[in-house]
Amino acid sequence: MRAPAAGRRPRPSEGPRVPAIATGSARHRRRHRGRRAVRRVRVGARGPPPQALIVIASLTRRALYALATSSEVESVVRAIPPARDLAYSAARRYVAGVTLDDAIETVRRLTGAGLGVSLDLFGEGAADEEAVTRTVRGYRAAAAALADVDGDVNLEIVPSHLGLDLGLDVCRRHVEQLVEFLPAGSRLEISAEESRRTPQIMDLTVALAEAGAPVMATVQANLRRSPGDVERLLAAGVPVRLVKGAYLESADVAHAWGEPATVAFVRLAHQVHAGGSAPVLATHDPVLREALLATVPGAGVELLLGVREDDAHALVARGVPVRIYAPYGDSWFRYWMRRVAESRGA
Ligand SMILES: Cc1cc2nc3c(=O)[nH]c(=O)nc-3n(C[C@H](O)[C@H](O)[C@H](O)COP(=O)(O)OP(=O)(O)OC[C@H]3O[C@@H](n4cnc5c(N)ncnc54)[C@H](O)[C@@H]3O)c2cc1C
Repeated sequence: MRAPAAGRRPRPSEGPRVPAIATGSARHRRRHRGRRAVRRVRVGARGPPPQALIVIASLTRRALYALATSSEVESVVRAIPPARDLAYSAARRYVAGVTLDDAIETVRRLTGAGLGVSLDLFGEGAADEEAVTRTVRGYRAAAAALADVDGDVNLEIVPSHLGLDLGLDVCRRHVEQLVEFLPAGSRLEISAEESRRTPQIMDLTVALAEAGAPVMATVQANLRRSPGDVERLLAAGVPVRLVKGAYLESADVAHAWGEPATVAFVRLAHQVHAGGSAPVLATHDPVLREALLATVPGAGVELLLGVREDDAHALVARGVPVRIYAPYGDSWFRYWMRRVAESRGA
């Protein structure tokens, strides 16, 4: 998007922020707030470059989540190099690096401190097979570099980055190529995405496990369907990593963020344990984590790079296995938006 010359009065169509009329259903108002957030960032992007970032810093958790799914806002920030650089300096704590070399340096720092790592190449929603083939090449390079790292390292994938939207078979074919390149002893951790993709992700995960691939599933506690998914995963012998869930979902498919999702997390952790497996608790919530570590023997912990690092070191010192999710690559913007939203708390 082209920025108008400084000092020019905005045309009516791009004028200053107009308060949205908050009428209609809650769902309508939520959608409206998301659009309003996108419009505010666009308007902010026309001022001096950091303006767009100041607008981002003032947004609510829900609005930030809306931005995390907006390719429009991402393009605005990317198109203005000083804004992009400033944004990256804020995002850096959550990002292992833009290049694979930087990411491997981060991985070595983490494994050197006794932490496991799950390395992911940023990206989602591949549009065609060519894009998926490029992603597979990127992951192969990552797998080869990880093979030289001394430590407990996994690879992590986002299924839509590997062609899930082009069909389950397309995705499975590409993921199977990756499995061949996994370093010895490593697992392939499979991220959870929006609930509309969950049925296919579960089918993919179970199919890979049944074919002997060392996969780990991610289950979102906020989704109402998750107890059924856990049952299916346990029956297929797939280890389960529990997260609260990072996507905005409607009330018919998901528990609300906060207490309801946290209670669902506790129930799922006990369900996994009762099914004979040890869950991985992927949460930064210390109360939830400590309550479960005390009652679910063998549970491990996963944290995101850049979040509560002191907790990670303290847990390792107590003998709790801890893995850090470390994403790298060029497409860090949306991921950063989600992390900014979460850093605000519920
Ligand atoms: C290893 C791992 C993998 C994940 N994979 C997925 C996935 O595949 N799909 C998915 O939907 N979600 C995933 N998530 C995200 C998850 O669903 C939550 O959105 C996220 O972890 C925040 O929830 P929380 O459990 O940490 O609790 P919260 O209640 O959000 O946070 C607990 C505490 O940690 C602090 N905190 C949380 N986030 C930040 C931050 N970014 N910066 C600073 N402080 C922070 C909060 O301020 C709060 O004090 C993953 C999370 C982890 C840890």
